[in-house]
Amino acid sequence: MNILDGKELAIIGDPVGHSLSPLIQQAMLDSLGIRCRYGRIRVPSGETAAWLVQAEHGPLAGFNATMPHKADLVRLMDDLSEDAHMYRSVNTVVLRDGRRKGYNTDGEGFARSLRDAGILPGGMNIAVLGAGGAARSVVLKLAACSADRISVLCRTPAKAAEMAQFSRRIRVLRMGGAPMMEALADADLLVNCTPLGMEGMETQFAGFDFLGRLPVHACVYDVIYRPLKTRLLEEAERRGHAVMNGLGMLIHQGILALEYFSGQALDAAAMKDVILRRLLPVLEQSHCAAP
Ligand code: NAP
Repeated sequence: MNILDGKELAIIGDPVGHSLSPLIQQAMLDSLGIRCRYGRIRVPSGETAAWLVQAEHGPLAGFNATMPHKADLVRLMDDLSEDAHMYRSVNTVVLRDGRRKGYNTDGEGFARSLRDAGILPGGMNIAVLGAGGAARSVVLKLAACSADRISVLCRTPAKAAEMAQFSRRIRVLRMGGAPMMEALADADLLVNCTPLGMEGMETQFAGFDFLGRLPVHACVYDVIYRPLKTRLLEEAERRGHAVMNGLGMLIHQGILALEYFSGQALDAAAMKDVILRRLLPVLEQSHCAAP
């Protein structure tokens, strides 16, 4: 008997139709023999608090959240995990014993995907492109993992300046200038946290010459998983770099969320296989996926 048996889980967002969470979570629930349905619920912007009050009276044991609710949920929680508190963003909520606990799985999902690839960020110089929600989680997690220097490269440094207040190891630089080229020249890892190259995005990187500044040993990580291989990764691979897409991060986030919902540790390797069996056929159908 699992505490989720007979309960429901869901993802809330607007839009929410594109989310892969139902597929990922249901694959794990089914493989574990847990009798719980995972659905999707469209909750419009501004209705987070009202929806939550009503949801607490139903069979929901917890939920994931995507745009536009992640920031609003922070002030609606009774408890926050350390990461959710640090990122000021909640993407997983457990409803138990009349309390709401908010978690954020972004940074830890990213860190676990690096660990799977044998990459330990401690002592590394790391360049991060973008300064939005994903970048913030990645950057703060890298600082917590003792990366030596993290250079946040973005088009609006003023918007991201507060990130540098978390650690002396973090600096925020304008994308495209000479300081960016210097940051790339001694980077061990480059992480793209912009949506450039994502399926459905009109815009793409204007060019990839900046990759020429990276040392050849540097790994290039794109948090995008749709397509599985972005132009950035294709160009980096062509130049001899090891590359990673965002699939590992996505999968680890799903596993972490189910651990929070169920209150039990899961066999990550087994869950990864279960998820990939369901997820890869969907992602490989992507029109933009690399051959
Ligand atoms: P976001 O909060 O909207 O942030 C996007 C960032 O990219 C901002 O810093 C934005 O700069 C920058 N940007 C957008 N267009 C740009 C351009 N043309 N040139 C330069 N910078 C540009 O988005 P997010 O939630 O961080 O998501 C970013 C990507 O990560 C998405 O593709 C998302 O699917 C992916 N992601 C993957 C995972 C995973 O598990 N693998 C998890 C989370 C997110 P401004 O602030 O100046 O607009």
